[in-house]
Amino acid sequence: MAQGRSPVTHNDREDPPASTDGPRIATEVKTRGDADTATETVFRLDDVHVYYGSFLALRGVTLDIPQNQITAFIGPSGCGKSTLIRCLNRMNDLIPGAKVEGKITYQGQDLYGDGVDPVEVRRRIGMVFQKPNPFPKSIYDNIAYGPKVIAMKPPSMDQLVEESLRRAALWDEVKDKLKQNALALSGGQQQRLCIARAIAVEPDVILMDEPASALDPISTGRIEDLMEQLKQDYTIVIVTHNMQQAARISDRTAFFNAEPAEGTGDRTGLLVEYDRTDTIFTQPTDQRTEDYITGRFG
Ligand code: ADP
Repeated sequence: MAQGRSPVTHNDREDPPASTDGPRIATEVKTRGDADTATETVFRLDDVHVYYGSFLALRGVTLDIPQNQITAFIGPSGCGKSTLIRCLNRMNDLIPGAKVEGKITYQGQDLYGDGVDPVEVRRRIGMVFQKPNPFPKSIYDNIAYGPKVIAMKPPSMDQLVEESLRRAALWDEVKDKLKQNALALSGGQQQRLCIARAIAVEPDVILMDEPASALDPISTGRIEDLMEQLKQDYTIVIVTHNMQQAARISDRTAFFNAEPAEGTGDRTGLLVEYDRTDTIFTQPTDQRTEDYITGRFG
């Protein structure tokens, strides 16, 4: 499945590609000049602040997220990891009082710009949550639901369901019971079903907010193996409180902390350090990162 290149303006699925009319914003894919791997940037965040009402939850986040890699957000509880990952597909729009300031571009396009359709954004940028949340429907219908809702017209729905389940490494376990209620699956299978459901609508990016924290170690291992496969086709951003998991699976790691903000004294999330995962875990430049990864965090 190719990484999407077209913008996320309203109705663009129905439009023919390239230089036609419509409320389009030119797609501008920027290249990141990493010394070892030149890779395209999918998200570019510039001085992002997030408020819940008057409470500043996250301040001044600037970072780029590369394509076809796994980027992990780590840090102590309350430092804004979930808040930030929700900004990446405009899920915070659904929280009353949440406000995002600064700039977030996705494939070079202002994610919060005029004419951008949040529903289309959430199709391109799917999300998997901590607790598996299958619909109380059959396994088949869980996968087919999203494509139907957005009026996708695959040549064969059966094939789309099979392909999605295969990509989520679940097909062999469920192929003989597609009509069974998804709630009868184990927790780990349910989480892979949710990943298959996200894949079915052909996203470019999969956001995962602590996807394995409710699972046993074997199921966690399967999800981690799956993520490694999925990054061939998708860009993945994961929130995890499990540092070993971040070290095992991610290419880049962003470490966040919550510290008192000037003026208010409220503890506000901020990005402390962002780098290649091996650098963060072996040669962090910031003392706070070092203290956190070595367990000396106060
Ligand atoms: P993390 O994912 O790192 O644990 P969160 O993003 O959940 O952190 O929370 C960051 C801060 O924002 C915390 O102080 C939290 O209490 C606050 N917060 C998160 N969600 C909401 C919300 N819906 N309404 C108000 N405050 C929130």
